[in-house]
Amino acid sequence: MAVADTGLRDLRPDFPLLAANPGLVYLDSAATSQKPRVVLDALRAYYETANANPHRGAYKLSGAATDAYHGARQAIAEFLGARDAETLLFTRGTTEAVNLLATGWGQAHVHRGDRIVVTRLEHHANFVPWQQLARAVGAEFRICELTKDGQVDLDQMRALVTANTKLVAFGHVSNALGTINDVREIVKIAHAIGAVAFCDGAQGAPHLRVGFDALGVDAYAFSGHKMLGPMGIGGVIVRRPVLEAMHPYQFGGDMIEFVFDGDTTWNVPPHKFEAGTPNVEGAVGLAAAVRYLDGVGMEAIRAHEVALTRYAMKQLAEIEDLHLFGPTDVGTRSGVVSFTLGDIHPHDVSTMLDVDGICVRAGHHCAQPLMRALHQSATVRASFYVYNSTSDVDALVASLQRAVARFHAGA
Ligand code: PLP
Repeated sequence: MAVADTGLRDLRPDFPLLAANPGLVYLDSAATSQKPRVVLDALRAYYETANANPHRGAYKLSGAATDAYHGARQAIAEFLGARDAETLLFTRGTTEAVNLLATGWGQAHVHRGDRIVVTRLEHHANFVPWQQLARAVGAEFRICELTKDGQVDLDQMRALVTANTKLVAFGHVSNALGTINDVREIVKIAHAIGAVAFCDGAQGAPHLRVGFDALGVDAYAFSGHKMLGPMGIGGVIVRRPVLEAMHPYQFGGDMIEFVFDGDTTWNVPPHKFEAGTPNVEGAVGLAAAVRYLDGVGMEAIRAHEVALTRYAMKQLAEIEDLHLFGPTDVGTRSGVVSFTLGDIHPHDVSTMLDVDGICVRAGHHCAQPLMRALHQSATVRASFYVYNSTSDVDALVASLQRAVARFHAGA
């Protein structure tokens, strides 16, 4: 099965790091993606043609930086399916976006006796901020468990989301198991009792067409570095009624309207939530990344990842003692395969793969509550993206087979 069989042209030449290292098999895109040349070029072009502090200068170059920043916001909002670009708040990434919501919205609207519901699948970034908010205000923090197949148990979710629930926070796609959640159904459950529905899209936005306006969630967060953009940029789109009810998260320049000796009034969103000099470079780079993704086509990317995942799951299942986690149906999972290999510790598996130039992640994947429920301290995780091919899967499988043989020979 060649790359062409997944329907996507070979995109590896577009990625300078991969093009320069033909032997490298990069299977850790769920941690961070590689960057195409167009993104690197956009960063350089910004600094060579438009660099200045935005918003503050009355001169043309500052205007160019302002235009670059807000043009990027518009492009990213469009890519994510949000018509109202001013509701897209830039942050450093998903982690900062969740902290912004937990502080700016949560501290004002979640009180003693209220309930917050999350799921067993969550990354610590969408777990700890809500857990700590609940502890701080005296709210209940409840975790919706999974079915045997690694899906959120929606019946349990319906029972957990009671009249006192203020927030349901859940991931679009699990970084640890690859599970794709039924976002619309979870939103329906949350909205039935008037709770806010927040979706962590760190693993969704890079791989699936989000369509924010139609999705129904009240807020959707994402990380640029996982979707071909630079590190240090990401954001959250927040539906107007929730946005209007949010308090500032950080204080300083740009987010104010008037500052008096004893009090301050706030600028309008998005500025109200973007204190200080913004990451214009990051926004410009991420805009170039989403243009690239759009050029490839999110539907084509999804089809490519489904084909690769199906191929990988079939090959991996044939390896002795390999145990795969997560949904068995490729249609309900993304391009993430998590597994253990007999008694070999996942860190050792990862080190052995590295000898063959294969980059995978081993560990708890920032999902300790999930790992505990699976009775695992760690798994090996291979994750696919636009530049991967079936030959990367073949290299992974061959290297794992060698690892098993070496392990048995040494045992
Ligand atoms: N949520 C999920 C599902 C993730 O996979 C990650 C990163 O791995 C995060 C949140 C945190 O993203 P960041 O580190 O970019 O803030």
